[in-house]
Amino acid sequence: MKRDTQIFDLINQELDRQEHGLELIASENFVSKQVIEAAGSVLTNKYAEGLPGKRYYGGCQVVDQVETLAIERAKELFGAAWVNVQPHSGAQANSAVMLAVLQPGDKILGFDLSHGGHLTHGSPVNFSGKLYQPLFYGVVKETGLIDYKKLEETALAEKPKLIICGASAYSREWDYAFIRSVADKIGALVLADISHPAGLIAKGLLADPLPHCHIVTTTTHKTLRGPRGGMIMMGQDFENPFGLKTPKGETKMMSALLDAAVFPGTQGGPLEHIIAAKAVAFGEALTDEYGTYIKQVQTNAQAMAKAFLEKGYGIISGGTDNHLMLIDLRNKNITGKLAENALEKADITVNKNMVPFDDKSPFVTSGFRVGTAAITSRGMKESDMQAVVDLIDRVLADAENEETIAAVRAEVRDLVSKFPLYK
Ligand code: PLP
Repeated sequence: MKRDTQIFDLINQELDRQEHGLELIASENFVSKQVIEAAGSVLTNKYAEGLPGKRYYGGCQVVDQVETLAIERAKELFGAAWVNVQPHSGAQANSAVMLAVLQPGDKILGFDLSHGGHLTHGSPVNFSGKLYQPLFYGVVKETGLIDYKKLEETALAEKPKLIICGASAYSREWDYAFIRSVADKIGALVLADISHPAGLIAKGLLADPLPHCHIVTTTTHKTLRGPRGGMIMMGQDFENPFGLKTPKGETKMMSALLDAAVFPGTQGGPLEHIIAAKAVAFGEALTDEYGTYIKQVQTNAQAMAKAFLEKGYGIISGGTDNHLMLIDLRNKNITGKLAENALEKADITVNKNMVPFDDKSPFVTSGFRVGTAAITSRGMKESDMQAVVDLIDRVLADAENEETIAAVRAEVRDLVSKFPLYK
């Protein structure tokens, strides 16, 4: 077969973009070469519907071992009692959980997208807001911290079946124990979606949701530094409290309902090449080397927040406990959209993001989100964060000046060349 130079040239262009830019998108990271190798392996050829030892296809003796290793490593990493590593993505993991525990029309209570939540937590444009009846809590305007009072009031008044915590753009710790205590008052389940801070939670740098939340979902590609994918976990298996029955009329333990909601509920064949890459990433995350890395991610985020504050930028909640922060541009006379575009021209990648109580649309926004997971994988330390913020500030102070942007772009190249990628 003739080599597909069209696609491989584009892949090389993307490698070049990643190598020469400053990657600050909070949901991205740089996986190891062995994660890429596993993801690009012959396991992509294999169908394996079902679970290890219980497949609907022959020839699964090898992939069974791969998937079992992924499950065992994930359990060890998070101290989980049960794990399903098959969800193709974070959104798929959340859809499987909702299929397992809810009926169409049931109420769910999630963190408002416009305050930092995720689409799959009840947004009207997503399945979660179309199939279920969404209710929301947000942050307190003055502090930028989760409005636990509103969460409790809404939960007690509306009695949702599921309370969802977790976010895409929230830089602070969560009070999982409090949310569980509210859920217990109304017989609701709690889902913690730890897609963003999963790596920090795995290494004990943030509170552990597993003892408090019935179900935990995560992506595997953000701070966890694995391939793109999702996963569902539980700290302990429990009986389905809503008495939901399987299509055969049986009442089953939650683990069985969740497994069935992944396959055949929402997916077909699992991606065993990606599951192998997840296993490799979990193996890496179990090492002390990863522990040092993820601690540095947090230290770098705190150093970056300090540097932004010193330059007069607002940060929602005033700082960060994890790997990301939401920069508030309302005092800077520039929109998130313009900031993202100008920074991109200087090879600095961020994403525009609404800030809580934003008066601008999601396409314009008054803020942007940054994270330190990717630049820390390149080896940057807290002493480099000042330089990073200086470069951003120079672009934003003069966002339409092409000369400034060109000068910053050259300095970005200089800076990142000291932290080579995939060499
Ligand atoms: N949940 C949260 C909190 C997220 O931030 C994201 C992705 O950004 C997802 C779920 C969805 O993950 P995916 O893009 O893999 O579907």
